Amino acid sequence: MDGTTATKWVYSFGAGANEGRAGMRNLLGGKGANLAEMASIGLPVPPGFTITTEVCTAFYANDRKYPSGLEKQVKDALAAVEQTTGFRFGDPANPLLVSVRSGARVSMPGMMDTVLNLGLNDATVDGLARKSGDARFAWDSYRRFIQMFGGVVLDVDHHRFEEIIDEVKHEKLVTEDTALTAEDWQRVVSGYKKVVEDATGKPFPQDPWDQLWAAVGAVFGSWMNQRAITYRRLHDIPADWGTAVNVQAMVFGNMGEDCATGVCFTRDPSTGTNLLYGEFLVNAQGEDVVAGIRTPQPLSKASAKPGEVSMEEVMPEVYAELMRVRGVLETHYRDMQDIEFTVQQRRLYMLQTRNGKRTAAASLCIAVDMANEGLIEREEAVRRVNPASLDQLLHPTLDPSAKRTPLGKGLPASPGAACGAVVFSAEEAEARAQKGESVILVRIETSPEDIAGMHAAKGILTTRGGMTSHAAVVARGMGRPCVAGAGGLAVDYTSQTLSAGGQVVRGGETITIDGATGEVFVGSVPMIEPQLSDEFATLMGWADEIRTLKVRTNAETPLDADTARKFGAEGIGLCRTEHMFFDAERILAVREMIMADDAEGRRRAIGKLLPHQRKDFVELFRIMAGLPVTIRLLDPPLHEFLPHSEEEIAEVAASIGAEAEAMARRVADLSEANPMLGHRGCRLGISYPEIYEMQARAIFEAALEVAKETGKAPIPEIMIPLVGMKKELEITRAQVDRMAEAVFAEKGAKVEYSVGTMIELPRAALTADRIADVADFFSFGTNDLTQTVFGLSRDDAGKFLPAYLEQGILAKDPFVSLDREGVGAMVKIAVEKGRATKPDIKLGICGEHGGDPASIAFCQEVGLDYVSCSPYRVPVARLAAAQAALGVGGVDRTA
Ligand code: PEP
Ligand code: MG
Repeated sequence: MDGTTATKWVYSFGAGANEGRAGMRNLLGGKGANLAEMASIGLPVPPGFTITTEVCTAFYANDRKYPSGLEKQVKDALAAVEQTTGFRFGDPANPLLVSVRSGARVSMPGMMDTVLNLGLNDATVDGLARKSGDARFAWDSYRRFIQMFGGVVLDVDHHRFEEIIDEVKHEKLVTEDTALTAEDWQRVVSGYKKVVEDATGKPFPQDPWDQLWAAVGAVFGSWMNQRAITYRRLHDIPADWGTAVNVQAMVFGNMGEDCATGVCFTRDPSTGTNLLYGEFLVNAQGEDVVAGIRTPQPLSKASAKPGEVSMEEVMPEVYAELMRVRGVLETHYRDMQDIEFTVQQRRLYMLQTRNGKRTAAASLCIAVDMANEGLIEREEAVRRVNPASLDQLLHPTLDPSAKRTPLGKGLPASPGAACGAVVFSAEEAEARAQKGESVILVRIETSPEDIAGMHAAKGILTTRGGMTSHAAVVARGMGRPCVAGAGGLAVDYTSQTLSAGGQVVRGGETITIDGATGEVFVGSVPMIEPQLSDEFATLMGWADEIRTLKVRTNAETPLDADTARKFGAEGIGLCRTEHMFFDAERILAVREMIMADDAEGRRRAIGKLLPHQRKDFVELFRIMAGLPVTIRLLDPPLHEFLPHSEEEIAEVAASIGAEAEAMARRVADLSEANPMLGHRGCRLGISYPEIYEMQARAIFEAALEVAKETGKAPIPEIMIPLVGMKKELEITRAQVDRMAEAVFAEKGAKVEYSVGTMIELPRAALTADRIADVADFFSFGTNDLTQTVFGLSRDDAGKFLPAYLEQGILAKDPFVSLDREGVGAMVKIAVEKGRATKPDIKLGICGEHGGDPASIAFCQEVGLDYVSCSPYRVPVARLAAAQAALGVGGVDRTA
């Protein structure tokens, strides 16, 4: 700042100039930026102004004081609003009323949301009555203002306000607010003012400017309240982003039967269907829809159920205008919008637009439809779908043929099925989930305080509220199955019961919810695998055209291999053969093999395993016909196979014909202090060559068998684990090559094969140039590599990693998302050294990171050839790989 230009703290919209635009979301918050954008493209937006997020940051940096110059800029901006509207702030004859709303860069439940009707006081209320010709409306507006201001700015318990209304209704023997007259509301206002004075020790502020600054202060204050802090922590939102404040001229949806308020999505946020989707309430103010107290009506005739009256029918011209605005917004923003509007005397006003939160299914459908409609490019469609969200689509649904005991039905608010123990509070949901329990959070309605519990729950059930209620919106964003507004169910927090039609479910008992149909069942209902939509296949096809990384799967069972093929895996990147040995039929032979104290004994046991192992490989090769299959030779930390109980020891002893006591001694001999760094991986193949020989034989025999049977030779890639030195690979590779020659000679036929190694030890990475001499490929075992680079036990990290994450020592669990700085540096060294020796050496990754979008972006950057991940993550990896090719960093985005 050079002293001549003062910082601009306030941006006007719809009042004279439009100083902001959509791209200024960091400065103006999402709401403010989009209000300015809508005003500038000619949509009907009530005029107002935005106080920037920089004011919030300055406020906290400067001991909660506003920066100099702010007051004057606010005064000027409000004067522009007065000019545009012809009303004046605080003018008893012709009062300007405003709303004050928070608006961060991303929508953030948990902060102070809204104060409406600000500017009303004992004098201006008469002006409003005269101007509107409706005293009842004016006094109702005043009491709403005191109630909202009292609640969110002055922190007065809302029950105290509700009691006053109840008293007045009680005296008049009426039950509905609509039965109250102007005089009644006037009495309510007096009662409210007294409540405020009692609670705060001061009279309700009458000066509109005092009201305004207090409301602005409350918005900034709410940035640091506990709920907002929790929300930011859950969503990785930095505290220094700050919030903006929007001050906007009021328009009234509650001024009579030709007024209304509503919220809608330009497409269905659950399914993505290209239809206007939303609700409205005649003669109501915005918060009434969100609060879910009155039941809103549908917008379009087509979506109206019997007994419902749509806006299309009661306000056809407003509906037509809304449809026009919808088109303008979608063409302009090129994305599905979530809008709030008010109708004042049949005129439509836009109060908000933002990119709408949506389910994974809707996100996919909308992206594909918009590309097909020509609104966006295919690449953009691929960019828009968050790969991690595909998980939701791959989730199981309820088995339609399964027996079920219905309990009730609500709205299908967020798809997916979930089953768990009923809990009635967010705290309990968190506590039980932490112990590893699956819980369903059951509430009458949810509020921003509940988000941590909603996050912890497998699913959410509410008995009140609509498709745009808090529960529905938040659950969809989180990808939690949710049934909302199940009005036929009764929740009793005191007796901890959920009941309907004589059936009672107690806290802790199991229920199942189906967020796609809205159904609720007693007990647990079996689930089935998901069906994937046409749009899913289309988007995956587009992703495949873009990506350069291949995607393989980690699989050793035919079921997993088959699932992965269906999800588009292009081969197997890791078959962990030790997982094949846990089968009841085989474990005894495996134990014999390990426990034998000479080569002869080992060979006998291995002879029993060979036919099983060959059959395993035949099945995998058939499923992966023509594709590469990486088979890793045995890599068990031995302790995983040792017999433990006396019975197990006796069983192995009997099978070998040895004494149980001798066996027990052998177990003691074999047990290790540090098995992860012990007798495992290629060390085992070097000390017991018979084992790798048997596995190599099984692989070659199986490959020849499948080649003969199908005419399509499989491509075995034999992988040696835990290599740290070139010599280790030389020796084990020679064993494999010798076995290949032997089998090919016996059978009079050959298959192509390659031999490579995992890079999962720092020494392997640092000497990768030497190891590459004898390796046809490298596969990064980043699970072990993370363990060994950090010196962090994979099996024990759970005890202290949470503290590391909590204290920000680590940003993410390094076993989930690759640590670029350390482990990534090691990978880079190995890539460079490996390629220096052998430029065309094949490079892949098979640690868990192969299915993590951020790690996949890293793999793209360092130039790996493929990633390999568990079957259900294959679609995630295909999409993430395409995004990585487009330069997207694989970070999670909030819509
Ligand atoms: C690895 O270490 O990354 C790996 C894939 O092997 P495992 O998890 O079986 O040790
Ligand atoms: Mg490993």
